[in-house]
Amino acid sequence: MTKISNYNFNGKKTIVRVDFNVPLNDKFEVTDNTRIIGAMPTIKKILADGGSAILMSHLGRPKDGPEEKFSLKHIMPELSKQLGFEAKFVDDCIGDKVMQAKADLKAGEVLVLENLRFYKAENKDKEAMPEFAKKLAAGTDVYVNDAFGTAHRAHASTAIIAEYVNVKMAGLLLEKEIKFLGDTVANPEKPFIAIVGGAKVSGKLEVLKSLLEKVDTILIGGGMAYTFYKAQGHAIGNSLVEEELVDTAKQILKDAEAKGVKFLLPIDNLAADKFDNDASIETVGVEIPEGRMALDIGPETTILYSTEIATAKTVIWNGPMGCFEMPNFSHGTFGICKAVAESDAISIIGGGDSVAAVNQSGLADKMSHISTGGGASLEFLEGKILPGIKAVTE
Ligand code: AMP
Repeated sequence: MTKISNYNFNGKKTIVRVDFNVPLNDKFEVTDNTRIIGAMPTIKKILADGGSAILMSHLGRPKDGPEEKFSLKHIMPELSKQLGFEAKFVDDCIGDKVMQAKADLKAGEVLVLENLRFYKAENKDKEAMPEFAKKLAAGTDVYVNDAFGTAHRAHASTAIIAEYVNVKMAGLLLEKEIKFLGDTVANPEKPFIAIVGGAKVSGKLEVLKSLLEKVDTILIGGGMAYTFYKAQGHAIGNSLVEEELVDTAKQILKDAEAKGVKFLLPIDNLAADKFDNDASIETVGVEIPEGRMALDIGPETTILYSTEIATAKTVIWNGPMGCFEMPNFSHGTFGICKAVAESDAISIIGGGDSVAAVNQSGLADKMSHISTGGGASLEFLEGKILPGIKAVTE
């Protein structure tokens, strides 16, 4: 297995799968550059050795071919800012034009290819994947996968391409993710607390089951809490619920008890009369009044959870405690951010919305590790082997 730190990129053209799937505003400006900054160590290592880097990524979910709003050209100003010089862009990711751009690329230069998902062969059309992957690899000497966010998908650029290159390896960001998530969860310092929130139980069922085997305490928040409330026989009003998972929720509660895992649900909630920042809000206990929906954990819960977090040596957190996008329902999530930031625990924030919340709170630098992958970090924590990691480490 080739390790990036031991490899000399001098004179090599290296194709790097990065994760530049970043949020853009309506002027197509990058609103969160975490993922671009995350890719910098690998790019800089390649350039410092005297190599050149060809960067490929997806952006958004184009339906049927190219869509202006999903063009990777939008990220170029931010990328060039981070690099300190102007990177080049080619408006395709395979074909003659791209082959020419690859051939013209000089040592020390960076070339960005257009959105991979403008082709179905990247992620949808399995049969076309090998041919597409081969074209991506053409004209390059080395393949580096540094996109943890898509490492749980066996796509052309994340896994299949590895079969068409002589030299392949994990990038520095991918290595860091594997090290932090892998080592911490394999050998956590105890007490080990998992904070799990977000919209639905269904998206986090497997990780909840797997966490029951490892952690001392699970703190539940967000929309998923109310499926558990229903399982306990509480009134939930119009709160989010997954009826078909109420029995599963009951089983999880039983399993937690049997395994001696402390499984905490909110003890109070902010109940709104509509899904709106300006809704009328009532702070209620565990019974949500008819006609109201719980959109955030309440202040007592924030205190209770913060007290638990203060005792932890290891904390992993995935999913917000409420609808934090609306300021009036962001207090629970930001309260938990503060508690995690103030604790002495090793803290891992697992992707997606929790990362956005931590960034917004201004406390990101107080966390030990902020994962760049939402789904990928969940699957990794579930103990699954991710195809994007397997492809470059075997
Ligand atoms: P997930 O992608 O599963 O981590 O869910 C994140 C989303 O869950 C965020 O957009 C939140 O607004 C939403 N969310 C959190 N708490 C609630 C709640 N109590 N009711 C409805 N949606 C929620």
